[in-house]
Amino acid sequence: MKKFCVSFFVLFLISCSQDSVQSEVAVKKFNWSMVTTWPKNYPGLGMAPERFSKMVNEMSQGQLKITVYGAGEFVPAMGVFDAVSSGSVEMGHGGAYYWKGKVPAAQFFAGVPFGFTADEINAWVYRGGGLELWEEIYQPFNIKPLPGGNTGTQMFGWFNKEINSLADLKGLKMRFPGFGGEVFKRAGGTPVNIPGGELYTAMQTGTIDAVEWVGPYNDLAFGFQQVAKYYYYPGWHEPGSMLEFMINIDEWNGLPPHLQKIVEVAAKAVNQDLLDEYTASNNRALQELINTHDVQLRRLPDDVINEFRAISDDILTSSAENDADVKKVYESFKKFMGEVRSFNAIAEDAFVEARNLSEE
Ligand code: CA
Repeated sequence: MKKFCVSFFVLFLISCSQDSVQSEVAVKKFNWSMVTTWPKNYPGLGMAPERFSKMVNEMSQGQLKITVYGAGEFVPAMGVFDAVSSGSVEMGHGGAYYWKGKVPAAQFFAGVPFGFTADEINAWVYRGGGLELWEEIYQPFNIKPLPGGNTGTQMFGWFNKEINSLADLKGLKMRFPGFGGEVFKRAGGTPVNIPGGELYTAMQTGTIDAVEWVGPYNDLAFGFQQVAKYYYYPGWHEPGSMLEFMINIDEWNGLPPHLQKIVEVAAKAVNQDLLDEYTASNNRALQELINTHDVQLRRLPDDVINEFRAISDDILTSSAENDADVKKVYESFKKFMGEVRSFNAIAEDAFVEARNLSEE
């Protein structure tokens, strides 16, 4: 009996080890590359794709490994879209308004002046038909988009002079991407789009006179307090900018369904996580900028904000007249904005107003 049991146990072990060998052979592993528009490991923006990659690796038990590259390590920051489109890499991470030269309608999926807050753009993209439109406009480029984080409401930016009227913007060369840059141009300034990692030097050498980037947490990390004196708010041009993951559609189609689901769920988690990181970090950084670095915080005058708003409406309307995709996306944006704005006016807006009353 004892002998029988031992032989049975040995057979059982052999059978187990054969099973595990067979299942390892059956699992196909994927090694992907993701290029980004951010410096490697940059706080917030650059860490979001790193966290995504870690999450996907853990959830897939190593079946999908994604190596993240900073701007310039594999392709330049502004080459990310093309690299994913051509299939030279499987994935990218950036901001959709960087590709406005190729896809003007993409700008809505980063954000437009006087547009959606973070909550609102999430609701539009995930629950209001936004993602379907985004997929439609990226499809000709063989790219599948997914939301990839949100900065929350940004700052207007850094200046070395006070801005009291639009006349003060005349002749100013400012880093300013997206529709916001077009508004700035119409207001008399000169917008340029320079990747984040090159902005400090551009300010230091006088290549640009002013810079908008993100908000206190990111701006402190780049050291803009050393090259500019005035820090202006509100960020009328980027009220809740969404970041993006880009996936080459052929590579996406080659993933088994469970890995596709892992990618979608991890992207959604990172989309919220990055916003939480900004919400938790911005005020601490702002206090450091003001108290340690003597940065002069300034609010844009109301009449300047209103002028920016009028120009923004005009630019969005004329862009829609000139481009069928912009028109389609703008109509969806406007419809959803109408739906969320009316309720927000009596819900979150009214509450925040009430909360601030008690602090005055
Ligand atoms: Ca910005």
